[in-house]
Amino acid sequence: MAHKISLIRGDGIGPEVVYAAVKVIEKTGVQIVWEEVHAGMDAIAMFSNPLPNETIHSIQKNKIALKGPLTTPVGSGFRSINVALRKEFDLYVNLRPAIKFQGIKSNYNNVDLVIVRENTEGLYSGIEHYIGQNREAAESVVIVTKSGSERIARFAFEYAKQNGRKKVTIVHKANILKFSSGLFLDTTRQIALEYPEIQCEDKIIDNMCMQLVTDPTKFDVIVTTNMFGDIISDLTAGLIGGLGVAPGANIGKDGIGIFEAVHGSAPDIIGMGIANPLSVMLSSCLMLDYIGEKDASLKIMNAIRETLKNPVNLTKDLGGSASTNEITNAILSNL
Ligand code: NAD
Repeated sequence: MAHKISLIRGDGIGPEVVYAAVKVIEKTGVQIVWEEVHAGMDAIAMFSNPLPNETIHSIQKNKIALKGPLTTPVGSGFRSINVALRKEFDLYVNLRPAIKFQGIKSNYNNVDLVIVRENTEGLYSGIEHYIGQNREAAESVVIVTKSGSERIARFAFEYAKQNGRKKVTIVHKANILKFSSGLFLDTTRQIALEYPEIQCEDKIIDNMCMQLVTDPTKFDVIVTTNMFGDIISDLTAGLIGGLGVAPGANIGKDGIGIFEAVHGSAPDIIGMGIANPLSVMLSSCLMLDYIGEKDASLKIMNAIRETLKNPVNLTKDLGGSASTNEITNAILSNL
């Protein structure tokens, strides 16, 4: 039976990279019926609402969505729709693998790690306000709960166990943020005891950044709070060739999954035809794995690996000159 999947093309480079990924998915022969819905700038233009009910209902019903990036206005304007979607569906896991492909230039080889980022709490709780009539100060509230830390920690260790990974590194700042980061660290260490077969260590975030750029091959699964995970996943993307090859998945407790690239709407390259579609395609592989279409996922992975071996297929961000269409066509012909 065909899978019904909600499709949000996003804005900026979103439509360019999302429709390229859809072509590649369809070429595998997997049976998918796409239900296209809108969010962000796109939805404002069409419905004067950045997150229409129709979009929420579609994801609720289909449980799976492939999503393009959504621009968030800086400072004023509407709050992040990405964060709103994570909250709406309690998408507490943000899974961000960083895998170095042959053919992509980078100072690092053999990088193969996965960041498991807590996606609903921490500094992104959205609870913040100004103090004083003239904005003399501002306060943002960090929320860390024991139950929130337990479920993300359990996901990280289960993921390690089910995917043959050997080690989980807990990343925190419990030396300074003794309560919030401290609770996350203590709770995650407690869950680690249930998985004696998986090695567990912890690192303070600043040291972790230094260790990652010194030797990323030392790391396997990394579990951390919302903002640290957001920042170090861009760092790890930098280790493997950039945001153009960094996929992501947001997974919630009712089996709902929203799959999207780590990158944003890339306003500096909109409409130039040079956006790298690989991170949405790799996110599609995570989605296909998640819905049990492992053969289709493997076919896309193999076609991407093959395509990247030829430098003529590399997009500008990877040091080449291929357009979005050219790399997509190369992947289609390697499928
Ligand atoms: P960005 O990820 O959009 O871009 C950062 C840099 O990487 C830019 O130079 C861009 O050209 C390049 N880049 C990103 N994706 C690329 C691709 N596929 N191919 C080639 N180059 C690529 O980050 P930003 O500029 O900080 O954010 C722009 C907007 O996107 C902001 O409004 C931000 O809030 C939003 N954003 C959305 C998401 C999401 O929807 N999940 C994630 C991050 C940022």
